[in-house]
Amino acid sequence: MSLYEIPITHLSGIGEKKAALFKKLGVNTVGDMIEYYPRAYDNWSDTTPIGELVGGQTAVIRAKVATPVNNIRISGGRMMAKLSVCDDSGYLSLVFFNNKYISSMLRYGEEYLFMGKVAEDKFGLQMTSPEFSSAATSDAVTPVYNLTAGLSNRVMIKAAKEALGMLPEVIRDPLPYDILRHYDLCTLSYALQNIHFPSDLDAMERARRRLVFEELLVLNLGMRLMKRQSKEHTAVRMTTDYTAEFIDKLPFTLTGAQQRAIADCVSDMRDKPSPMNRLIQGDVGSGKTAVCAALCYHTVRNGYQAAFMAPTDILARQHYETFTKMFAGTDIRLELLTGSMTAAEKRKTRARIESGESDIVIGTHALLSESTVFSALGCAITDEQHRFGVAQRARLASKGEHPHVLVLSATPIPRTLGLIIYGDLDITIIDELPPGRSEVQTYFIGTDKRDRALGFIKKQVDEGRQAYIVCPLVEEGEGETPLENANDYAAELMLGVFRDYPVGILHGKMKPKEKDAVMAQFANNEISILVATTVVEVGVDVKNATVMMIENAERFGLSTLHQLRGRVGRGEYQSYCILISDNRGENTEQRLGTMCRTNNGFEIADMDLKLRGPGDFFGNRQHGLPELSIADFSDTETLAQSQEAAEKLLAISPDLSHDGMRALRAKIRRLFKETENTMN
Ligand code: ADP
Ligand code: MG
Repeated sequence: MSLYEIPITHLSGIGEKKAALFKKLGVNTVGDMIEYYPRAYDNWSDTTPIGELVGGQTAVIRAKVATPVNNIRISGGRMMAKLSVCDDSGYLSLVFFNNKYISSMLRYGEEYLFMGKVAEDKFGLQMTSPEFSSAATSDAVTPVYNLTAGLSNRVMIKAAKEALGMLPEVIRDPLPYDILRHYDLCTLSYALQNIHFPSDLDAMERARRRLVFEELLVLNLGMRLMKRQSKEHTAVRMTTDYTAEFIDKLPFTLTGAQQRAIADCVSDMRDKPSPMNRLIQGDVGSGKTAVCAALCYHTVRNGYQAAFMAPTDILARQHYETFTKMFAGTDIRLELLTGSMTAAEKRKTRARIESGESDIVIGTHALLSESTVFSALGCAITDEQHRFGVAQRARLASKGEHPHVLVLSATPIPRTLGLIIYGDLDITIIDELPPGRSEVQTYFIGTDKRDRALGFIKKQVDEGRQAYIVCPLVEEGEGETPLENANDYAAELMLGVFRDYPVGILHGKMKPKEKDAVMAQFANNEISILVATTVVEVGVDVKNATVMMIENAERFGLSTLHQLRGRVGRGEYQSYCILISDNRGENTEQRLGTMCRTNNGFEIADMDLKLRGPGDFFGNRQHGLPELSIADFSDTETLAQSQEAAEKLLAISPDLSHDGMRALRAKIRRLFKETENTMN
């Protein structure tokens, strides 16, 4: 039996109650625990003499228990344990709360290592609830795990130790030996042991590099296998190019980049034996929707249905309206399918899709449901692909007999990541904006200048324009100040500066119908100022909006800020982005400074990666890849090595069917299966 099948309750001291807590951390099995790597390490070898401690510092001391533990009952029935410890240089008081075992764990006269924050009051220095371990048996480096309420680091350490003890003597290393040797990697058992309980920091580094390498390799191989599989199918051939007759009807002339994107896709759909599998990457406002419309038209004229999936209700409805205008005067039948429609509406719509009465279906995740059946899906398009997982992309495609697949993205991914993230896709880049756009002018100001900024917005609105004001939070009480709260903020504006202007509110907790109503009002200029959370981040297109003001701008990632800014400057008017923050930390200055300096999405993405680190690429799920447990894309050297290794292995066995690669295959399955489960 595999360790991934043994429930965590198998470990001693973990019953159903604790297991529920482990589950919160994603740890369900013994195998999961082994792969639940520490977030950080405590280095216990770096001790400070008590006499040199200063208040506020976090330190490790090596000290003997100098007094018996004194248990005191304090208010609320709580317990406090107090004692003194000493080394050659002085005495220190320790305080623990609600731990009745302290007196049995810390023995008078014995020596321990204590780690904690030193506080100073009028009675001298003390540590409250320090971590500790016996000086005689203590490890030099101990793991620090991400925790959840009710689970202590101590419990995690014990679980990890026991789980590691259950590893079979010889575990099957998924990496072939020559790969280990060639890239100077340690073995799996060494890596697992030392990632949790390293003998020193060098051993930890070695373990980490090996595990990162393996995870990136597995990801890489998975993406490549997916690409390979899609190439094995025969494509629906669309032999005649109908795009020109559609393009002629558009109210504008396509840019060269838009034309090239269409040509790439038409050629994929006509000339290749396997289905198209392409990403179109174009900065916000580059006109990806028109490209899709042309391809949908092309698909329908060739006798098939097209599906166009968007991540939010608002966006799906907006696309539906755009398409309705573009397809006016044709006999093409459009359909909208979103989760917010009534059950009866959905049923009728699905019936039309299944019978082939609908030609182009625009919708949200509702398209993915089992009850959505197409009669002849020829082309599946996913907008804002980073909002969807790899598995969801595949699910939309599975609604047809290997239809052509197109995904769209405005989130620029640093080039170094592109290959792995889009390993399964061919790529077209739209590197040109429609003519007549002037760059959005961006300013970074403190809250002391907010009134001036609001005055500026007023002037713009008086000239007939509209504005967005974004604040990070919605609910009452969520913010530290009222200004961080969209509802309160809007109320304040409505009663104050903008009392004579129509102000609207938009946030993620509203019902889809309410959101739509507000968006429609904004699109019709019945609302001049829209106070919103980041729900406006995705794709919304209102050409008349010229100001995007963002409160607490330091809280957003650069990619999000760039997306938000992309909501303005979409028409003929000069547009402005105002970033408000009182945070003058170096990092904030640099990040917001970057926004002011450039409108180039790639440059911004590179800077984001450099300044915030890759954690945020994972945190925000900016990529739709499976969640990784240890790897991090900023390690470009290991990334490149893992790519090289993936190619080597596939050269030996193109589908990894070779017997020696069985463990690797299992790893790939696990990584991608988890995506399917967590992406919803
Ligand atoms: P995105 O690439 O961000 O999805 P959209 O497709 O929403 O961008 O297009 C942004 C705006 O530009 C839309 O209002 C669209 O009508 C307009 N547009 C697209 N292509 C052109 C073009 N070639 N010339 C002028 N305007 C265009
Ligand atoms: Mg778009």
